[in-house]
Amino acid sequence: QKGPVPKQFEKGSSKQGKPVYNKDEKIKATFVTLARNSDLFQLLDSIRQVEDRFNRKYNYDWVFLNDKPFDDNFIETTSAAVSGKTKYGLIPTDQWSYPPWIDQEKAALAREKMREKKVIYGGSEPYRHMCRYESGFFWRHELMAEYEYYWRVEPDIKIYCDIDYDIFKWMKDNGKDYSFTISLPEYKETIPTLWDTTKQYIEAHPEAVADNNLLEWISDDGGKTYNGCHFWSNFEIANLNFWRGDAYRQYFEHLDKAGGFFYERWGDAPVHSIAAALFLPREKIHFFEDVGYFHVPFHNCPVDKDVRFERNCACNPDKDFTWRGYSCTTKYYTINNLKRPKGWEKYTQ
Ligand code: GDP
Ligand code: MN
Repeated sequence: QKGPVPKQFEKGSSKQGKPVYNKDEKIKATFVTLARNSDLFQLLDSIRQVEDRFNRKYNYDWVFLNDKPFDDNFIETTSAAVSGKTKYGLIPTDQWSYPPWIDQEKAALAREKMREKKVIYGGSEPYRHMCRYESGFFWRHELMAEYEYYWRVEPDIKIYCDIDYDIFKWMKDNGKDYSFTISLPEYKETIPTLWDTTKQYIEAHPEAVADNNLLEWISDDGGKTYNGCHFWSNFEIANLNFWRGDAYRQYFEHLDKAGGFFYERWGDAPVHSIAAALFLPREKIHFFEDVGYFHVPFHNCPVDKDVRFERNCACNPDKDFTWRGYSCTTKYYTINNLKRPKGWEKYTQ
């Protein structure tokens, strides 16, 4: 695996000590955010972070999607904050409602049960539509059609470090299709039958499974059971063509027909992650150790101080989640034989 920073963007690589950047090199990429009008100011905070650390130098577009029309205040405020073009899309009703084959009474009973058991978001109906939408539809929205790569941004996140290189172009130049900053195991109560449903799909579509995949990362027993490890999808920089391809499209249809988005509470994070782990060769997946990221309650803060100082990271490495017991990123490093950053062992709890 190549290092995270392309040579031409290293500090001091031009006369002014600033990266040399040619806008002609921009690729077809956009930020994408699913949000409600009420998310505006938490989202504004996220946009500020992303713009200040990265996008003010690159001016990539930003697509906003909502199941209700965005109001003028939302549009005017976000347009003023984003340095690239902004676009606002309404989600078609059939992508944010019950498909005809779903038994809505069964779904309501499942929500009640999960609410009683205090499963996180277990009683929520909109959360289920959100997870289904992020799994099966955001990449099909007409506003996304012209793009090849996207970066998903949610309200209330933080970007801790400067990104002094075109991260989209880096993904493309290095053949990466999916990337993450934080990984952890999913709550098993939300996905009781997700793995069995996945296995059915693989039996019917063995051609979907990539050689040199990451099955080892998501299963500790050669595929019998799912260990819950997933990339936390509130941060994603990825290639839209992966979701658009047959392997994933048909996987989503299979999951959707099985009904677990409603009868259980399948999250888009395990769905995306299982797909990336099985349908991509592992070298197409990338862990960003140089971006620095926060989404409540977990931090990614580079533990190597050379990285933190070089990138002006504003975070406390004692809070870094990467090397702790509950993180799945340790296993990711181990099975991929990646070199761990200097001093990682001081940050395991
Ligand atoms: P969490 O990160 O799992 O706690 O879930 P969030 O509440 O952050 O929701 C994930 C993403 O979906 C965020 O970008 C939210 O703004 C968005 N979102 C969640 N629920 C809805 C909804 O009902 N409508 C719309 N338009 N966006 C939503
Ligand atoms: Mn969130």
